[in-house]
Amino acid sequence: MKPTTHLFLGLIFSLLSYLIFEISLLEFLILFLSTWFFIDLDIVFIFIIKKRSLNPFRFYSWAKNQKDFIIKSKKERKKIHYYFRFFHSFELILLLLIFSFFNKFLFFVIIGFVFHLILDWIDLYNLNLDIFHKVSWFYYLKKNKNTKKQ
Ligand SMILES: [Zn+2]
Repeated sequence: MKPTTHLFLGLIFSLLSYLIFEISLLEFLILFLSTWFFIDLDIVFIFIIKKRSLNPFRFYSWAKNQKDFIIKSKKERKKIHYYFRFFHSFELILLLLIFSFFNKFLFFVIIGFVFHLILDWIDLYNLNLDIFHKVSWFYYLKKNKNTKKQ
């Protein structure tokens, strides 16, 4: 899913939450940023580690090239080695849930992440891609074991 689509839908979702549930402005902001920005920071960290660069223009073109697999055949898609998207997982949601007992703002991060994940899964499903790399750390490790690194 395009970042702009995430941003747009995240804004609508956060605004509706703000109006319906009367959350505070800070809670709205945390929710909004979690629906499109915070969760996708994992790919930024992957880029920094993999390419040893902080250049935003290089990141942009690298991230754009990651979508190349969409045009590959179904057989080729099975061999794709996905990046470990550690923010895109149930395990992280579970950890955040535990910590949210100590910090209520994390609850809004969780809601934002779940909203984002559902959109990502719909997108992957529509593109006929396996959603595993954005579901669970353990599922990812199990499924990605036999694929070749990029
Ligand atoms: Zn995402």
